[in-house]
Amino acid sequence: MAKTDLKSLTINELEDFIISLGEPKFRAKQIYQWLHEKRVSSFDEMTNLSKSLRAKLAEEAKISGLKIIEKHESSKDGTVKYLFALDNDNVIESVLMKYSYGNAVCVSSQAGCRMGCGFCASTINGLEYNLLAGEILSQVYMIQEDIGERISSVVLMGSGEPLDNYSNVLKFIKIANSDLGLGLGQRHITLSTCGLADGIDRLREEDLQITLAVSLHAPNDEIRNKIMPVSKKYDMNRLLTACKNYSDYTKRRITFEYAMIKGVNDSRECALELAPKLKNMLCHVNLIPVNDVKERNFIKSSEAAIQEFASVLNSKGIETTVRRKLGSDINAACGQLRRGYLNNRR
Ligand code: SAH
Repeated sequence: MAKTDLKSLTINELEDFIISLGEPKFRAKQIYQWLHEKRVSSFDEMTNLSKSLRAKLAEEAKISGLKIIEKHESSKDGTVKYLFALDNDNVIESVLMKYSYGNAVCVSSQAGCRMGCGFCASTINGLEYNLLAGEILSQVYMIQEDIGERISSVVLMGSGEPLDNYSNVLKFIKIANSDLGLGLGQRHITLSTCGLADGIDRLREEDLQITLAVSLHAPNDEIRNKIMPVSKKYDMNRLLTACKNYSDYTKRRITFEYAMIKGVNDSRECALELAPKLKNMLCHVNLIPVNDVKERNFIKSSEAAIQEFASVLNSKGIETTVRRKLGSDINAACGQLRRGYLNNRR
């Protein structure tokens, strides 16, 4: 049987585990502190536990970890892209972004992805592995340790579809949010989804205060079907209903991400069609010039097209911004570094 990864357990789950070993419940808090406050990587370092308990833990459980295998720093803006190896030899990537308001880390939730978006490098070989909560956390812990500064926000916008790895991602959020862990406020955690409407409904029922970002990328099903296969399962009507319910219920503003792809979704007509669909929702739109991905045939929209698109939406009362592009010189777009690494290895 696979060993339980203790780093992936919430405090309540860790208590249950400890009790199942016949140990007193308070041990769970001690172990949790070792894992999430002192961030040790072995049971032997947990010096306030008896030797026999440490041996028992080593037998029954493990502590997931990551190794940094590559690190690329942008000379333009200080963005750093990390390539990590998991214990099972998979590789994932994370990005550190430095903003005036603090350090943000973009984490991966899966190695690969099975959503199949046409412009995305993460999905080319399909889904390879669902990350454990501890492996998502470790991306933040390791970057924090590497730079010696606090990480003040986390975005689940790296490789993978977080709502396709729902329970691990939810545990990640709970542990990252806990006072004994990173103590990250839920509002400083953003989850980005390609539009799994059932998952959005489920997330709403968790009653969290995290920020939801939704990759919309099109004003209608016809265009969306061409670039995002997920829209055949959840059409825009279904998706936007889930979004509206989410923001009505949580009172949180949703971010709609919209990658601007030349000749595909970037016309003035597209903006005019999109605006009324977002009209009665607490939301804003973030336009992202698409990063050209070699394997796919998508080119970014012109600056003029992007500005026009933004001004049409803004004039219709939909608050719209253009994403400041960080890390463009280090392949910092979703899945690109991992993709390059795997291409070289294969
Ligand atoms: N699966 C989730 C989160 C990971 S992708 C989602 O789809 O939202 C994070 C964001 O990067 C998404 O908005 C995705 O559409 C976008 N993205 C992927 N490839 C891109 C590219 N080549 N250029 C610009 N944005 C891209």
